[in-house]
Amino acid sequence: MYDYDLLVVGSANADLVIGVERRPGPGETVLGSDLAVHPGGKGANQAVAAARLGARAALLARVGDDGYGRLLLDSQRAAGVDTVGMLVGGAPTGVALITVDPSGDNSIVVSPGANARLTPQDVRAAASLFQASRVVSAQLEIPLETVVETVRSLAFDSRFVLNPSPAGPLPAEVLAACDPLIVNEHEARFLLGDSAGPAPEDWARALLLRGPRSVVITLGAAGALVAEGSTTSSVRVESPRVDAVDTTGAGDAFTAALAWRLSLRESLAQAAAFAARVGAAAVTRQGAQDSFPTADEVFAR
Ligand code: ADP
Repeated sequence: MYDYDLLVVGSANADLVIGVERRPGPGETVLGSDLAVHPGGKGANQAVAAARLGARAALLARVGDDGYGRLLLDSQRAAGVDTVGMLVGGAPTGVALITVDPSGDNSIVVSPGANARLTPQDVRAAASLFQASRVVSAQLEIPLETVVETVRSLAFDSRFVLNPSPAGPLPAEVLAACDPLIVNEHEARFLLGDSAGPAPEDWARALLLRGPRSVVITLGAAGALVAEGSTTSSVRVESPRVDAVDTTGAGDAFTAALAWRLSLRESLAQAAAFAARVGAAAVTRQGAQDSFPTADEVFAR
């Protein structure tokens, strides 16, 4: 019996957002809108998305001993995430400095801060959390060696889900543990390089040959593609048609929803179908964590 449906091992950032008419050039200063501060980071987003759906979720992450760290702890607790695995100190809380222009284009500078200090030792010290978690998910906004230690720390029959974002090279040991590896088009092309074929079905087949037990490719409004094990065919999952307002966090909501449904022992295709509905709901509202739906909202659509 597991205490947690999902343990997220990942990043927690404060997103500092300023609207600008145009971006400053070198040496230039421009005036912008009032500052908006939002809890973010892919790890924190996934944990909140899962808890909002009703999952018993925990987050293993590191924040600074500062106001942004407290914001992140508070927002996790408010969503119902167990914060016993949230570590404090070692560096300032990770920050994303985001400017948004009138066309909606973002420019972002990230200071990883405490996220870069989430170490393999931190993972080993959280062994009891791993033993209590049916599914564990990770992303790449923390050191790769910490992701490697995460894979080594999995309970014997727990399941590992990885969204390799931001895109980076993956050791064979990590790839072999993924069930599934969840990538968007950009991440798929990064991992496959010149060998990427023309269609998502080709990418899924090629990615499976790299070692993961299963692959999910998210395709924005077109939904997702699921491929498993030694099968050569993949299954398309539709996303509901919605009026997209803000796609920030859609991938995090998708991954969290899929991981939660896997913890309930649904098939990968069933879990992906549910996750596509959650991703679609998330794009109908502004923001990342603010946009994540409850299960009732998903089923009511
Ligand atoms: P990422 O945010 O990682 O780039 P995607 O853009 O592929 O990932 O979005 C993740 C999931 O969210 C998609 O598989 C889909 O289910 C849903 N989604 C994203 N954008 C839309 C959209 N415009 N309409 C409907 N669903 C969407």
